[in-house]
Amino acid sequence: MKILVANLGSTSFKYRLFDMGDTEATLLAKGGFERVSEYTACIGEMLATLKADGHLASGDDLDAVGFKTVLGKDLSGCVEADDRVLAALDGFKEVAPAHNPAYAEGIRCFKEKLPAVTRVALFETAFFQWVDPAATVYAIPQSWRELGIRRYGFHGASHKFIAERSAELVGNDAVFERARGLYVDGPSDYSGDPLRVISCHLGGSSSVVGIRNGVAIGSSMGFSPQSGLPQNNRVGDLDSMAIPYVNKMLGLSMEEAERQLNKESGLLGLSGVSNDARDVREAAAEGNKDAQLAVDVLIDSIRHWAGSFYFKMGGAEVISFTAGIGENDANLRAKVCAGLEDLGVVIDPAANDATVRGKEGIISAPESKIKVCVIPANEELVIAREVYRFKQSH
Ligand code: ADP
Repeated sequence: MKILVANLGSTSFKYRLFDMGDTEATLLAKGGFERVSEYTACIGEMLATLKADGHLASGDDLDAVGFKTVLGKDLSGCVEADDRVLAALDGFKEVAPAHNPAYAEGIRCFKEKLPAVTRVALFETAFFQWVDPAATVYAIPQSWRELGIRRYGFHGASHKFIAERSAELVGNDAVFERARGLYVDGPSDYSGDPLRVISCHLGGSSSVVGIRNGVAIGSSMGFSPQSGLPQNNRVGDLDSMAIPYVNKMLGLSMEEAERQLNKESGLLGLSGVSNDARDVREAAAEGNKDAQLAVDVLIDSIRHWAGSFYFKMGGAEVISFTAGIGENDANLRAKVCAGLEDLGVVIDPAANDATVRGKEGIISAPESKIKVCVIPANEELVIAREVYRFKQSH
């Protein structure tokens, strides 16, 4: 089954074409376009390339297109990307302005260009559908809650991959199967060996998630991808009183405060150096105190959320690191896991240092009670798999 995964940025269009089977997934082709102002031309060019390279006889040769949609109003899961999805994206376009309009536009373009090809949306919030309301509801007035203001959770495709892959790595087949079938079967009854995972997705944007037996119990992300850990340019958690206070003290309008919290905060705002964790780390190593503070705040925040999920799950069997920072910054991983010997976390420094640049592996020592893993992110594969399962079950 040929499945195309379309990754739509506000100025970019990237794609991967997979040949999917029950157990096999083969990446046939990948490509993309930058500085994109409208997607229709890109789709045409992409189809021409895929035909010329012999991957498709025609556009209709595609079985489905998958979209990693971010946040839908009153809608989540892995669903057909129809008018309901377009309305849901539109309903929250103010909350995810960099993502929702781009996906709505992309879905429309595919519908126009390839009307016979099934379109499937896998929302980034999907992995968090079964989180207990106690962990998603904000203590705000009813009228605010009715607008859909609550914790959702993002990076769902990435954390779902960790739920599956970490179970495979530690040989827990029952949890692997449960995690795999989640969007089709829901969280089925479970009585096998427990697998509690603290999943740290640390990249341009970051989140920590607790996963019990393949199902998420909560995320550091909230109403928008703005909360939780400090992000590259975005603030992460912030007391809501700070906004009226800067309005009074600095005369910032709501729009300007929002812009600064989105574009001039996070690692960039703290370090004053860069929004890129590599530059920040380098500056810190050269003695820049602001850069060091940025690194320390990130580490403290990861530990804060990881500690929360450890406590909520009553322990953990696995701590997992993924995405650009999580896969590459061995020093940060060591600091996140430092001083946790009483919880049973012992890092193997040699394994930790060697597991970088896309390598997968276990970086804890054999005697470590909790296994610490590095698992390279593969969000496109997760989308292709879920679209495949969607097609099989519909
Ligand atoms: P995105 O979240 O935008 O998809 P990535 O998952 O690729 O991005 O993560 C990007 C982040 O990973 C950047 O902050 C980058 O500095 C960081 N990163 C990449 N390589 C390294 C490295 N060797 N050491 C530390 N951080 C790194």
